[in-house]
Amino acid sequence: MYLKRNMNKKNGRHFLQIPGPSCVPDRIQRAMARPVIDHRGPEFATLGRELLARIRPIFATDGPVIIYPSSGSGAWEAALANTLSPGDKVLMCETGHFAMLWAGIAGRLRLDARVIDTDWRHGADPAAIEAALADDKANDIKAVCVVHNETATGVVSNITAVRKAIDAASHPALLMVDTISSLASIDYRQDEWGVDVTVAGSQKGLMLPPGLSFNGVSKKALKAAESAQLPRSYWNWADMLASNEDGYFPYTPATPLMFGLRESINMLNEEGLDNVFARHSRHAAATRAAVNSWGLETVCADPDAHSPSLTAIFTPDGHSADHLRKVILENYDMSLGTGLGRLADKVFRVGHLGSLNDLMLMGALSGVEMGLGLAGVPHNPGGVQAAMDVLGRA
Ligand SMILES: *Cc1c(COP(=O)(O)O)cnc(C)c1O
Repeated sequence: MYLKRNMNKKNGRHFLQIPGPSCVPDRIQRAMARPVIDHRGPEFATLGRELLARIRPIFATDGPVIIYPSSGSGAWEAALANTLSPGDKVLMCETGHFAMLWAGIAGRLRLDARVIDTDWRHGADPAAIEAALADDKANDIKAVCVVHNETATGVVSNITAVRKAIDAASHPALLMVDTISSLASIDYRQDEWGVDVTVAGSQKGLMLPPGLSFNGVSKKALKAAESAQLPRSYWNWADMLASNEDGYFPYTPATPLMFGLRESINMLNEEGLDNVFARHSRHAAATRAAVNSWGLETVCADPDAHSPSLTAIFTPDGHSADHLRKVILENYDMSLGTGLGRLADKVFRVGHLGSLNDLMLMGALSGVEMGLGLAGVPHNPGGVQAAMDVLGRA
């Protein structure tokens, strides 16, 4: 009787192990639990000025970072709408589902999106980018868009190599990078890597609830914005930058999330960004050790490109990944990421980003291993032990 399985499925905390939204730490919850303040008043101006300055080092930029009250998709649209004109050619790299969504936005904005594809198991191909730009003698391509960490596949694209490819072709295109699932989880340096627009969101490495998005903007991108002809109103950088001068916003910002962002930056600085990146890499390595022991395969096929923030895992042929996720949710109260686009039902994703410690990760991997057993997915036992061995190493 006492050993009857899963009598109390809802005790303790739900395990939110999807690759964003990530788990919001108690400190951030508490920082947001306060009355909403006047966003035109002096208290807000102080907060606004503080955040607009302190967010820059997280992007590794000296330039302005624009903060929108929107999901990450808004910042995708903002990056394009502020810098480009109808009919402009943009080069998109199809690393997976998220890259495709961004290309879709470009199409709806009446941009001419040229897509370089991949097998969804590797990062963006710098050689193909260089070749496409070298072919573009008239400099018709106005922007190269890359997703840094493709959240659908768990593959990281090498942004320095993409920058080198653009430079090798001596091409003036802007470089735009989606860091929605990498910022504050994976090493990223906007200025040093020559990125013109960084797209980011609040609900992944920044450990906040969904609802804020960001554009980190280079001087070259600001210059492009002066002559860009795409219509833009809500996303207009110029309005934002004018109000931001005094710590304000042109319309009502997401005030409670801004208090959360202050606490998020405090936490990241206390730990140190380098330590944050190392923690994510270590948790990813432990997760892969478990996957290898189970005898399963990661979607990422490039050993140098495994994502520190999530791992996407194939279920064996004939075994539904969505059924496995359902079994795990019902029995262990843990949410795992679903397979997206062409990976639907073939892949489940373990998020290990944001506020996560060793025992939370081990809990998650235990849930996966038990779930594999319950769902009848063929695997070798011992993945949890292999992960512990990695974490236990000095
Ligand atoms: C989550 C995510 C998005 C989408 O962000 P939303 O906040 O859902 O609009 C875009 N790109 C990447 C890489 C992501 O991980």
